[in-house]
Amino acid sequence: MNLIFLGAPGAGKGTQAEIVCDKLNIPTISTGNIIREALKNGTELGLKAKSFIESGKLVPDEVVIDIIKERLAQDDCKEGFILDGFPRTVVQAEALDRMGINIDKVIDIEVSDADIEKRLTGRRVCSVCGSSYHLEYKKPAVDGICNKCGGALVQRKDDAPETVRERLAIYHEQTEPLKAYYEEKGKLFIVEGQEEVADTTALTFKALEA
Ligand code: AMP
Repeated sequence: MNLIFLGAPGAGKGTQAEIVCDKLNIPTISTGNIIREALKNGTELGLKAKSFIESGKLVPDEVVIDIIKERLAQDDCKEGFILDGFPRTVVQAEALDRMGINIDKVIDIEVSDADIEKRLTGRRVCSVCGSSYHLEYKKPAVDGICNKCGGALVQRKDDAPETVRERLAIYHEQTEPLKAYYEEKGKLFIVEGQEEVADTTALTFKALEA
């Protein structure tokens, strides 16, 4: 199954994607994680993306389209995949169509802007594997340490309050139009994000089975 998880930054699409990919045994491809990894390793891609990602702006379409093209050509995507954080603009969605990739479903996780601001300021991510936690809603077993790999948990630079507001504005302006884009194709399934991760997961699986 080829899936897209759509939603505002911090709506919980990454968390849901991780849960679903474990269950379906397909990879999750997060352009945000790929770019952050490049930034950490100081590669050419990292240098290109640095100023955009740190200020909460979108990385140029052609850069992320190339990343996705290369990643989807790898063997582990043959049985399906979840795209988390791509596409984020109509230009990116059209590029995906032009690659001849059929998307089965688009799961859009909806959360109000006010709740997103609360969630993002408390978010912590693993500096090694990228897994996501929250100071209140999704605590790790040991404070500051990733349950999965033991890496240190850190706050993302772009989770600072003013950057979060900028990211939300960009989401409404550039990414939200994708809902209409996929609705027209009959592929859009809306999941109302719940306070408890497990409740959102139940709704996500319901949408996948619909
Ligand atoms: P995320 O982890 O998905 O919230 O992505 C973090 C940041 O990476 C975004 O704020 C953008 O700067 C960049 N990014 C990730 N995916 C994309 C994309 N599809 N298009 C443009 N920029 C992206």
